[in-house]
Amino acid sequence: MNYDRILIRYGEISTKGRNRSKFVERLRKSIARALVAFPEIKIQADRDRMYILLNGASGEQVISILKNIFGIQSFSPAIKVERDIEKIKEAALSLVKRLYKEGNTFKVTGKRADKTFELNTGEINHEFGGYLLKNITGLKVDVKNPDINLQIEVRSEAVYLTCENYPGAGGLPVGSAGRAMLMLSGGIDSPVAGYLSMKRGVEIEAVHFFSPPFTSERSKQKVIDLAKVLSGISGQLMLHVVPFTEIQQTIRKQVPENYSMTTTRRMMLRITDEIMKRRKGLAIITGESLGQVASQTLESMYAINEVTNTPVLRPLVAMDKSDIIKIAQEIGTHDISILPYEDCCTIFVPASPKTKPRREKVERFESFVDFEPLIQKAVEDIETIQIGPEANSTKNEMDDLF
Ligand code: ATP
Ligand code: MG
Repeated sequence: MNYDRILIRYGEISTKGRNRSKFVERLRKSIARALVAFPEIKIQADRDRMYILLNGASGEQVISILKNIFGIQSFSPAIKVERDIEKIKEAALSLVKRLYKEGNTFKVTGKRADKTFELNTGEINHEFGGYLLKNITGLKVDVKNPDINLQIEVRSEAVYLTCENYPGAGGLPVGSAGRAMLMLSGGIDSPVAGYLSMKRGVEIEAVHFFSPPFTSERSKQKVIDLAKVLSGISGQLMLHVVPFTEIQQTIRKQVPENYSMTTTRRMMLRITDEIMKRRKGLAIITGESLGQVASQTLESMYAINEVTNTPVLRPLVAMDKSDIIKIAQEIGTHDISILPYEDCCTIFVPASPKTKPRREKVERFESFVDFEPLIQKAVEDIETIQIGPEANSTKNEMDDLF
């Protein structure tokens, strides 16, 4: 007998009280979106668990997809049988026989969620364990460290059998925490910052600053490829590509070189803030990590952050680069990030940017230029790319989206 469904156990969402049904619904949607290539699948979502009815779909493929979905604590492929001792025996035997290899040990872990069932937990273990021992030659019991752990769970509607538990990705279902704008460069850090925010339930839209012809189409493609990896987690993702050349050239002309990095960051933040408001987001996410480079000292953050009251989330702020790299490798963004194409910040990077910029100074330098119309123009000229499992589509008119 083959597994016919996958049982999904919720993580933290079970502690979320009144919001629970919303969380369950979000998770159901995340799963449905991730499994869109399997139309035969049905999802049954209850308050305390979910079942994916495979209806012939490949359990292996579905399992590999489920491992990456946030909000799942653990999951198990399972068989559903009637509450009938003979039927349970039959299913248990065929399941264990299929997994059994010469010399394997096993145990039965019974669980009686519905106390009206005629056998208690000890009796379940005894009854079905004894039956398996009698019917599979060579099988031995090991209650401490068995090769096969047959879990038999009796519930009011049916009995579920499984021998396998997979850890889920943890976290909260994407979208349950609201929407934020991820400032996505082509580097190693910002995709990881996006991933960690998604893990806590944030729905992200990416914003990328692009300075043609100083930055090439290939560097833009690199960011699209990074966004594609992230969209694999959420099902889809919007990427707003902001034309940034004019602003960068103005900064270069008008702002002293050692302050140009600070002003560049401030402009990026102002534009991202404007996009966020139009898209009804609640926060901005960056890949900054304290002390990594000149623009990431506390003094710099203090000078840059002045331009907005919006919460700026920095999930990597206290992480070491080696730990960030490890996550980037695990999520599959690292090898794209290390491709050598230039970023709009690196080409205009000053020889010695201020590591301790002062707010008053940067404000004074900026006061000689009216940046506001340039910011508005950049926002109007944004190219928005919808990235998802379906074909990518490009929209030039923000009006459709805002
Ligand atoms: P990353 O590896 O994410 O590029 P970094 O270590 O290179 O980060 P910086 O270049 O100082 O650091 O950038 C800090 C943060 O500013 C980035 O993590 C990203 O969130 C944002 N950022 C930098 N450049 C861009 C860009 N061209 N478009 C959008 N966001 C950017
Ligand atoms: Mg960078």
